[in-house]
Amino acid sequence: MIERPNSKAVDRKRRLALAASDLPLRDAAVRVADFEEAYGAWDLETARAEAERCIQCPAAPCVKACPLGNDIPYALWLLEHGDVAGSAAVFRDTSTMPEICGRVCPQSELCEGACPYTKQGRPPVPIGRLEAFVTDRTPRAEDRPVPPSGHRAAVVGAGPAGLTVAEILARRGHAVTVFDAWPAQGGVLRYGIPTFKMSHRLVSEFEERLRALGVEFVPDTFVGDDLSVDDLFSRGFETVFLGIGAGVYRESSLEGADLPGVHQATPFLVRANVDEALRPEDLAEAATVGRRVAVIGGGDTAMDCVRTALRLGAEEVTCWYRRTESEMPGNPRDRELARQEGAKFRWLAQPVRFRADADGHLAFMDCVEMALGEPDDSGRRRPVPVDGSGLTAEVDTVILSLGYGGDMESVRAIPGLDAGESGLIHIDAETGATSREGVFAGGDAVLGPALVVTAVAQARRAALAMHEQMTADARMEPAASWSTR
Ligand SMILES: Cc1cc2nc3c(=O)[nH]c(=O)nc-3n(C[C@H](O)[C@H](O)[C@H](O)COP(=O)(O)OP(=O)(O)OC[C@H]3O[C@@H](n4cnc5c(N)ncnc54)[C@H](O)[C@@H]3O)c2cc1C
Repeated sequence: MIERPNSKAVDRKRRLALAASDLPLRDAAVRVADFEEAYGAWDLETARAEAERCIQCPAAPCVKACPLGNDIPYALWLLEHGDVAGSAAVFRDTSTMPEICGRVCPQSELCEGACPYTKQGRPPVPIGRLEAFVTDRTPRAEDRPVPPSGHRAAVVGAGPAGLTVAEILARRGHAVTVFDAWPAQGGVLRYGIPTFKMSHRLVSEFEERLRALGVEFVPDTFVGDDLSVDDLFSRGFETVFLGIGAGVYRESSLEGADLPGVHQATPFLVRANVDEALRPEDLAEAATVGRRVAVIGGGDTAMDCVRTALRLGAEEVTCWYRRTESEMPGNPRDRELARQEGAKFRWLAQPVRFRADADGHLAFMDCVEMALGEPDDSGRRRPVPVDGSGLTAEVDTVILSLGYGGDMESVRAIPGLDAGESGLIHIDAETGATSREGVFAGGDAVLGPALVVTAVAQARRAALAMHEQMTADARMEPAASWSTR
């Protein structure tokens, strides 16, 4: 076992002088022709050299910036010294899905944003890529059967939050059943995030691991409609986790929003990125795009739609955003990749109407120019229409990515559950307990549209509290750490 470094012995000056390697990014012209991951893999030597750039800051700002508190400096120290498996184990100590977080976390806002190199305007230690590198190269140890505890837990929602709860509880011997409205597992990891950001193979592998631990999956089941939370308790589940996300998308009320050729982001991404066998019947038809595509919105989802449309062969794909790039909420790294792949951007403009040609096909998008006014509740300057402005763009496909919110209907269907106006569930921050006894919640269902890593972090807290609750009376000892090595 390689010891942690003695902080005083680390030659920071030498390390700071080391040059950064290029990220293992496939050429834009090549990657835009397929749906494979945009990033390739480093060789071990390059990965070790990148890990060596870490100056092992005593204050470890990267750890503080990670919602899971991953011990990044130690993981990088192990990699630097050639212990790839040890490094992977450190990431797996605190994260159920480092293979996935390494790929999709907005590291520039989290760990890498806190890296001292970033503060100096230099490329940070590429923590995310190194996390993916070591965990990809380290198969997990085969799961040994866990003695059954006799307790039963239900998880509603098979996204990162629900799958995390399922894994932590199953490793403690509890019988876990996961219910989800979609035909397959993963939540947004499968039915949202495209394969060029993260191979869906990783979601299938996670699912297989859970099945090996005895977790049961009940797909195509909407809790609140097909069965209720009360039904779950009467079927013998002692505790219920709600990881139902915030996947209700904002519809557009604009004239022409119902024209053929105008799509909502989620159905579009599902029809383009998910295997046909795993798509629900109403999304069975594969997505196609026209020559000129307009994507409306500025978040991660908008950028995923832009990059998907480019891969589907559109000649011109433009992202239309009503503010400027500085106010854009999505991951800047994905925006840069989209640019490299040929995406165009039109700032400070907003559609007001979609119009068809004489044949009834979508052909025009009428817009107004916007200007930035006073800051709104989000702290960003509010976009206001410029009087008398107007422009028309010729388009044959529009994809609306106007944001997501909580599912008020699902939440209302659960008696005794406290939630906000927007359908987001209120919880105790320490335990994830809701106002309804025995019911816990976490992830986007609580936070609103957020991140995979924040869903995992909340789910981890809730799972430990659910375990405590189920075993408190039986006075069972917790089964070692919650680690998922
Ligand atoms: C297109 C897109 C791209 C994104 N890209 C990134 C990214 O690059 N990086 C990042 O960190 N985050 C990204 N996010 C956000 C991230 O995916 C979410 O924050 C995360 O998936 C939330 O996890 P969750 O488990 O809380 O919910 P979800 O992943 O939304 O899963 C919720 C699950 O609950 C199910 N469900 C809902 N209601 C019910 C019900 N009543 N009964 C049964 N099942 C139900 C749903 O079918 C779904 O499977 C993206 C989001 C989108 C939409």
